[in-house]
Amino acid sequence: MSAEIEQRLAELDAAGLRRRTRLVSGPQGARVVLDGKPVLLLCSNNYLGLADHPRVREAAADAAMRWGAGAGGSRLVSGTMTIHQRLEERLAAFKGSERALLFGSGYLANLGVIGSLGAAGTLVCSDELNHASIVDGCRLARGRTAVYAHNDVEHLRWLLEQAPEERAVVVTDSVFSMDGDVAPLEELSVLTRSHGGWLVVDEAHATGCFGPGGRGAIAEAGLDGEEHVVVVGTLGKALGAYGAFVAASAAVRELLVNTARPFIFSTAPPPPAVAGALAALELLEEQPARVGQLQAGARVLRDELAREGFDVAGSSTQIVPLVIGDAAQAMALCEAALERGVFAQAIRPPTVPQGTSRLRLAVMASHTKEELREAARTLGRAALQAGFRPGDGMPVAAAARGRDGATEGVRRATLVAAPLRVA
Ligand code: PMP
Repeated sequence: MSAEIEQRLAELDAAGLRRRTRLVSGPQGARVVLDGKPVLLLCSNNYLGLADHPRVREAAADAAMRWGAGAGGSRLVSGTMTIHQRLEERLAAFKGSERALLFGSGYLANLGVIGSLGAAGTLVCSDELNHASIVDGCRLARGRTAVYAHNDVEHLRWLLEQAPEERAVVVTDSVFSMDGDVAPLEELSVLTRSHGGWLVVDEAHATGCFGPGGRGAIAEAGLDGEEHVVVVGTLGKALGAYGAFVAASAAVRELLVNTARPFIFSTAPPPPAVAGALAALELLEEQPARVGQLQAGARVLRDELAREGFDVAGSSTQIVPLVIGDAAQAMALCEAALERGVFAQAIRPPTVPQGTSRLRLAVMASHTKEELREAARTLGRAALQAGFRPGDGMPVAAAARGRDGATEGVRRATLVAAPLRVA
């Protein structure tokens, strides 16, 4: 290994930030064999348990036999396959948008949408806790980027007022991936529309999990079909496959086909993944009770964790963070829980802000309530073993508010003083 690589890895080790992948045998079910040990899986985004559903597996297998394993190229080069078109039509109907466009992944969809809409002359305003793929989309955009304080509509208003000439693109997660809270979409929509801008909403963790029939937080807010709203959704989470889509007006879709680099320069999603997602979507539409089951499970987990003394008040969804603060302590808790048969991955910077390392728990509809109750008790005991009293954790809302325990006033002053830092 070169000396430079060794040094960089040693630095990560020293900071408690070295990562490694673990080996899972079998599908992403409620229980898995992890590095040879049976555990409860409490950190998968297979929220509705559809990744391993027989109908989804069968659809993917049939598609492989019918259309092959790969799409062969970008759709602009080797063509749209019938299965792509079919899923786009179903997704547009599900999301209540004029049209939909598939992307290879959610990461690519965010790069594509923000890169395209955030052309030179625009001001892209991004929530400070947005997903890394949105941050990277901002980096790709030719327009300027400004970061607003988490869910802070007044801060966003102030930023927009500083740049009245620039076309605005406001971008936010709807259900925040690491905090499980929900963006104030109605207010964001009114503000963005009054400035003549676009509101881009990443529904990766809301599609299939939130809102009427799992149609997302945009549908819950009654904003589906609004012309200034552009929705990103993924196929790799509740829809159990891989890939992503944008649901938007026909005009936005046409712009993306012509300018979104990840659409133009990357191979189209493979038929088995597309067919798997289509089967999952059909299942969701036939059995919307799955969404209620997921939400009921999430309530059970949050209630039981609160009983154990954890502060989970900031989450209202299936994503429940246990914010520990220190990276090494979060890892210690993760290992202690694993020893006791519960797998909940520790999440550390740069995925979350410095000083807010956490276990990110994710409920699946396939977890039983008893499994979730038992997991909460296990996590309580594991915390004590790791030298940490559950009640000592940083409240979720504080973690969502900012870094290093900065108070609201200090944080605001910082952002106002340097409002146009690049994400
Ligand atoms: N957006 C959000 C909010 C996410 O959490 C993720 C992935 N975890 C993505 C986008 C990227 O989606 P994909 O995994 O399909 O690339």
